[in-house]
Amino acid sequence: MRGLRAAVAGLILMAYAAGAGGGETASTSSADVPQARGNATTQPATADDGAGLLDPAPQTGPLVYRLSDSAPEWDSAVRRRIVEAMDAAVAAYNRYGQFEKTVIANYNPGTPTADANYDGWINFGGQIGFRTALHEIGHTLGVGTHRRWRSMIRDGKWIGEHANRQLREFDGPDAVLNADRLHFWPYGLNYDREGYDEEQVRRHILMVHALRRDMGLVSE
Ligand SMILES: [Zn+2]
Repeated sequence: MRGLRAAVAGLILMAYAAGAGGGETASTSSADVPQARGNATTQPATADDGAGLLDPAPQTGPLVYRLSDSAPEWDSAVRRRIVEAMDAAVAAYNRYGQFEKTVIANYNPGTPTADANYDGWINFGGQIGFRTALHEIGHTLGVGTHRRWRSMIRDGKWIGEHANRQLREFDGPDAVLNADRLHFWPYGLNYDREGYDEEQVRRHILMVHALRRDMGLVSE
């Protein structure tokens, strides 16, 4: 199963690696966020609703997602891209971590690239893909969106011990974890042009987890 998932993720990586660059912003707005559906494992195991509209794959969590209520009105090709990107990104987060969250994927043509907030809402606009979905899920988990984010930054560097320790495990004792009001790097998957593979995806997710530990959102 792991091998199959990795293969699928690899294909999606290839498919989306040539997409547009980053530059999106994360919104901290909490307006108009609908109530998340409860247990996503009760979703029917159908991938297609019969009208050619792709639905999210069955999910076991702990991170799950659903489409926003406007999904029936989306262009079917757009909807397919969002579902495929979110299916793969949510699976990756569950493969490499434990994140208790329900994320809502929305399509907003007026959004230049994509944005997200801590309430779990993601707007896909001009940028839809696996890397974007991973990155925006990071925002829903607190990257640049939690109120404690900025208190963990001094002079452009993240000061939390867990994320710095994790980065040093990846890159050695001299590694520097940079952060600004919205993002961190390396491993922030902030731009498609950074290039990434399955290991980069794994490191991104482990960094998000460590950043959350530093903000006190999880204890271990
Ligand atoms: Zn971002």
